[in-house]
Amino acid sequence: MSDIAIDTQFDSGNIEVKSVDGASAQLALRKDKDSEFAQWFHFRVTGAAGRALELTLTGLNDSAYPAGWPDYRACVSEDRAFWGRADTTFDKHAGNGTLTIRYTPASDIAWFAYFAPYSMERHHDLVAEAAAAEGVAYRRLGATLDGQPLDCLEMGEGDKQVWLYARQHPGESMAEWWMEGALECLTDPADTLARALREKCRFHIVPNCNPDGSRRGHLRTNAIGTNLNREWESPSAEKSPEVLAIRNAMDQTGVDFAMDVHGDEAIAANFLAGYEGIPSWTEEGGERFYRFQRILARRTPDFQAEKGYPKSKPGTANLTISTNQVAERYGATAMTLEMPFKDNADWPDPAQGWSPERCKALARDCLAALLEWLDEG
Ligand code: ZN
Repeated sequence: MSDIAIDTQFDSGNIEVKSVDGASAQLALRKDKDSEFAQWFHFRVTGAAGRALELTLTGLNDSAYPAGWPDYRACVSEDRAFWGRADTTFDKHAGNGTLTIRYTPASDIAWFAYFAPYSMERHHDLVAEAAAAEGVAYRRLGATLDGQPLDCLEMGEGDKQVWLYARQHPGESMAEWWMEGALECLTDPADTLARALREKCRFHIVPNCNPDGSRRGHLRTNAIGTNLNREWESPSAEKSPEVLAIRNAMDQTGVDFAMDVHGDEAIAANFLAGYEGIPSWTEEGGERFYRFQRILARRTPDFQAEKGYPKSKPGTANLTISTNQVAERYGATAMTLEMPFKDNADWPDPAQGWSPERCKALARDCLAALLEWLDEG
């Protein structure tokens, strides 16, 4: 039997092939350009029909989030529409951390990724379709270092300024699947949740804050290795034009409510992070965030408030992080939504794990929670 072939020269493709032997391959993660972060992978295997593939990634103890590998299962697709999970094991002690993916494709081509990819082509389909919807305005906020546009969609006649933005960390592709769910809801003229929200709010939606990192197959940084979610205190045209453009646009509108959408490598749950520890923190201001968290937890079993990040102590918030900066700068109720790369461990799905479909459903639940939060507030 001939050797399988492995390819990565496509949108968000990323893996280093060390060796191939029949249906087995030794692989390694490739770092984001000019940075130490490595975790995202996306590659295609051909010549694989009916063969028991064994793909091993070594050196993972040096990846960005070693805690992301235990209980993780790799995403696999043969039609690039349905993304399931492959049998995957992790051995911390072999090969400086070895992930072994086993899968027998029915067809000759199989695609593997850290999470179901969301390509820039799909991004442009999403933006074009939303921009063509009734009452939606398109705004080009600026350009990236690679010269890609930063797309923003605006809608709604209300006075509450709501900013939703995603994929500062480009490898967290679940964030743009969430955006697809949010935009499908908000641009549907027959959807009463959308109609009620658009009456109360003006939405500013940036489905992808980091197109360069997305296309380059990065986990966490832009074209020159900048972690955009550490740039919000002093963004620059040289290092972080993406953040500079978005923050300038926020300065113009002000912000009442903001959600920054992400994915977490290690924690098998959906959770929110707030803005404890900002200089202007008050119990009353914090309670606005906790109230949203309680509403969302009540609305969907896919969300919970027990597991998550530790809260910053008073006065110690990192103001380079978007949520803290936006809460401090605008007095907004701001939050970071984290979705799992693994699964929601309380409601596991053996076939798909956490999936594009569930990201989209959670987006609708977040919007429904926003309406309830506004109505009560
Ligand atoms: Zn992130």
